[in-house]
Amino acid sequence: MSIPFDLKKIEKEFGMITYERGEAYYQQNMVHSIVQMGQLYKARCKGSQPYSYFVELLIEQDAKGHKNISELKCSCPVGNDCKHVVALVLTIYHDSHEIRHQKDLMSYFSRQTKDFLIELLMELAEKDDKILERFFKIKDGKARRRRRGRETESA
Ligand SMILES: [Zn+2]
Repeated sequence: MSIPFDLKKIEKEFGMITYERGEAYYQQNMVHSIVQMGQLYKARCKGSQPYSYFVELLIEQDAKGHKNISELKCSCPVGNDCKHVVALVLTIYHDSHEIRHQKDLMSYFSRQTKDFLIELLMELAEKDDKILERFFKIKDGKARRRRRGRETESA
């Protein structure tokens, strides 16, 4: 997938109805908590539900310097070509000052105590198997290295 990061092209791609709904969401400031990590943009968008949806965009730059949306997703039932994605595109386009960056996250984490960070990771490990996978990978890797170490000792 590759959609030019251009409002006219996005309107064409998503259709006028979705685009206008997204525009209304943008005007009502429904998009919040935007963070840019490299080419990835993550944000939350309020909706008709009491909770927010998670929206993600991957915006890559081609050799000519043109920006293209190469991946998009949203946690709403529509899933991708939805008004929440349009609202995020418009927010990135018009309100870049709303975007938090990787360095903001890093400086936030670097100010926290070790206990706080451990608590946070434990909370995340409950919700996200990737953290557990990472834990077992490190743990198993170390165990393998230890076993190898012993084998060479006894040889
Ligand atoms: Zn959506």
